Amino acid sequence: MSLTKEDILNKADELNVKFIRLQFTDILGVIKNVAITIDQLEDALDGEIMFDGSSIDGFTRIQESDMKLKPDFDTFTVFPWRPEKGGRVARLICDVYMPNGEPFEGGPRNVLQNVLEEAQEMGYEMYLGPEPEFFLFEKGEEGEPTTITHDKGGYFDLGPIDEGQDTRRDIVLALEQMGFEMEASHHEVAPGQHEIDFKYDDALRTADNIATFKFVVKAIANEHNLHATFMPKPIFGENGSGMHMNQSLFKDGENAFYDEADELGLSQTAYYYIGGLLKHADAIAAITNPTVNSYKRLVPGYEAPVYKAWSASNRSALIRIPASRGAGTRVEMRNPDPAANPYLATAVMLKAGLDGIKNEIEPPAEVVENIFAMDKGRKAELGIDSLPGNINDAVDELLKDELIQDALGDHVLKHFVEAKRLEWDVYRTQVHQWELDQYLKTF
Ligand code: GLN
Ligand code: MG
Ligand code: MG
Ligand code: MG
Repeated sequence: MSLTKEDILNKADELNVKFIRLQFTDILGVIKNVAITIDQLEDALDGEIMFDGSSIDGFTRIQESDMKLKPDFDTFTVFPWRPEKGGRVARLICDVYMPNGEPFEGGPRNVLQNVLEEAQEMGYEMYLGPEPEFFLFEKGEEGEPTTITHDKGGYFDLGPIDEGQDTRRDIVLALEQMGFEMEASHHEVAPGQHEIDFKYDDALRTADNIATFKFVVKAIANEHNLHATFMPKPIFGENGSGMHMNQSLFKDGENAFYDEADELGLSQTAYYYIGGLLKHADAIAAITNPTVNSYKRLVPGYEAPVYKAWSASNRSALIRIPASRGAGTRVEMRNPDPAANPYLATAVMLKAGLDGIKNEIEPPAEVVENIFAMDKGRKAELGIDSLPGNINDAVDELLKDELIQDALGDHVLKHFVEAKRLEWDVYRTQVHQWELDQYLKTF
């Protein structure tokens, strides 16, 4: 499907659209948008809408604060939950451009497109299927979010235990109306935790879909008077929320990760891709697990990965190969969490995988044992190391990894590192409730 300017003007007219949100994300993955009215749609489609980028996190360079938004026509869709009265609300996802017409190097979508181009030059197209998890929490008296879980359900539970099911149903319906192909939705392991899966697509479309998904979930939850959060680990002692990323490369219309003749059904390309992901896993973590809180999820005992290893069979490894073969052959990276900027996360994983292919990086042997059950000695024997233990260490690793830095580009790298160093510093100098509970009486 490729829409033209005329198609969109006609559609907007047919659907009685009054407002159009021009949508993009900042470096930290927060969705931003500017609303225009239908009268400005033509200018917007011509890429003529300017905005002041100086107040957007990570975009700040005062001398270049006037920026342009160029919509991707294929992302035109109507928000089904907004009122029809007075005209509907539609949106277009945009790339950010400099006034001189060059793509803005700090735009996360541009960053991903650069790496996708590199893949294309090698003959590959990347496909991506995410598994985003989130919590639904009750709101307090003032409408503020709480961490009171809204139900006591567990993995795959059915209603009436699963009170979230109505909300989940409305989310699925809204996404379908927006053109998503929905796959599965279910209650996750923790109370109040859910997963909704939509169909894999090419990587850019999927990154767009993740960004859209997150705000649709929040908007619909809000209609049910619930607070949806993609915070990776909101409750101590319960599973956190991950966003497994299922990835594959296609060449000439065929899945390049599949090889019937191989013992595991994987091609040499797939092995190299895994080799690349494992080689760069520490630096990738800074982007796929970008918050202080992300690392509270990556601890043993909660189905989240801790150790750098791959496996075709068990889920304790960072990388798992789901059972399906043929066109469905894919590599599942299990550490990403839904706080990650989907464009940047995809860009760095693809960059690492392509490095594996270019430089023929053989992965270590597959790990078939449960890593969580191994003692230190056994892990050392197999050469299994852990991922960085906090965001600060992950940023240190990022600063050692030139390939991943190169994927991000100077602008994003600089602003990302600055923001994360600051976040860490504020966090590490706080006095937390745990410390008071632990020390106030004892000492
Ligand atoms: N919530 C788990 C995580 O943090 C994943 C659980 C699952 O999907 N099996 O990654
Ligand atoms: Mg799943
Ligand atoms: Mg899950
Ligand atoms: Mg999974």
